[in-house]
Amino acid sequence: MSNQQIITRFAPSPTGMLHIGSARTALFNWLYARHTGGKFLLRIEDTDKARSTQPAIDAIITSMKWLGLDWDDEIVYQSHRAERHAEVALQLLADGKAYHCYETPEELLQKREAAKAEGKVYKYDRKWRDAKEKPPAGVKPSIRVKAPLEGETIIRDQVQGTVTIKNSELDDMVLLRSDGTPTYMLAVVVDDHDMAVTHIIRGDDHLTNSARQMIIYEAMGWQLPIFAHIPLIHGPDGAKLSKRHGALGVQEYEKMGYLPEALCNYLLKLGWSHGDDEIISQDQAIKWFDLSGINKAPARLDFDKMKNLNGHYIREADDERLVEMIVPILNKKCGEISPAVKEKLKKAMHSLKERAKTILELAESAEFYVMRPAVDEKMEDEKIKGILPILEKITNWTHKEIEVKIKEFLTANNLKPGAVFPGLRTMLTGSHSSAGGIFEIMEILGREESLKRLSNT
Ligand code: GLU
Repeated sequence: MSNQQIITRFAPSPTGMLHIGSARTALFNWLYARHTGGKFLLRIEDTDKARSTQPAIDAIITSMKWLGLDWDDEIVYQSHRAERHAEVALQLLADGKAYHCYETPEELLQKREAAKAEGKVYKYDRKWRDAKEKPPAGVKPSIRVKAPLEGETIIRDQVQGTVTIKNSELDDMVLLRSDGTPTYMLAVVVDDHDMAVTHIIRGDDHLTNSARQMIIYEAMGWQLPIFAHIPLIHGPDGAKLSKRHGALGVQEYEKMGYLPEALCNYLLKLGWSHGDDEIISQDQAIKWFDLSGINKAPARLDFDKMKNLNGHYIREADDERLVEMIVPILNKKCGEISPAVKEKLKKAMHSLKERAKTILELAESAEFYVMRPAVDEKMEDEKIKGILPILEKITNWTHKEIEVKIKEFLTANNLKPGAVFPGLRTMLTGSHSSAGGIFEIMEILGREESLKRLSNT
């Protein structure tokens, strides 16, 4: 396989939002393909008609695009390939590697319940594998694979190492149902083979599926792909990640104000490491990503860490891009923003972004440029009030000029900055702790607006 182009794939079932665990699987497959100069394919596993929905397909595509995980070639829809899946089942039947099973749904139910009553997991008893009896009339058969009865199946996994599964644990799974529809297990193998997938990187909840899928590869005489089963993501408490831990869908993170590059960096680090590096750009990730760096232990989500990383990427982000991101949020809250205010936001962004950890926080910190804050505090202090006439005299309204004049005033009146600035800041921004230097805030707000706010008129 050494000179072969590496082909990875992401194969989500469209039954809900794109889960962040799945997004991490997609990211790893994407990085491995980009790292090796291979291909990354997207296959929508929509064979389960009852559970697959168009909104879920849309959510997957939108989330992938938002994360910047571009795929090669056309999207493959598994449901469109049912005929091909059936063809393989029939070929296995013709080759004696599979057989017709005439078990009726009633029989199956009975056997299942009997197993349950005994506290056992139901496993098909292979009644029709070598049956001599005549098939019952009027029963449409399913097609089952002849799984090996003895020995072991060995998965040489790139993450888990050598995993041995006793063949006695595997059953003769159904390939084609009696209504002619393929099972998931068959569809996955046929698609991965036809798409020439060389590496299957997926959650370790699929490990036993791999052993079962290997039976089909074997029976068809197809070359096995390389498997890498990655540990699942756990919640901060170490339990399997679930809704009670917080947001699970990629789009929820977008709504909460995460940048895609921050989420990608976080998900990458959650399950893969490169020394002690925490901040890894997309280019670096492509350069460094390898299967050997994938951790074997399940990773725990740490929302504080995620937020801090997001703060880092916000500080790194282009100011104009950030303005475009906060404008819709501010529009909603404060009414349509004028081009003049947007210009103010652009000027202020370099300081606003210093502190915000999410885009929502960033929008909130920018609100005072859009709306005059409600301030109870008046500049009661006569000395502070004395600043107003000084500011009114300034014609060249720049932060430098404002600073010079205010500092002159402080010196002349023997005042410490701490006696004046918190009050000024609150009058101007509604808070003691707003982002940005006070002189710059005044320059950006403009002379008229600043004076209005300071005189509380
Ligand atoms: N469709 C499967 C899932 O969403 C993934 C199958 C695979 O990666 O092989 O869990």
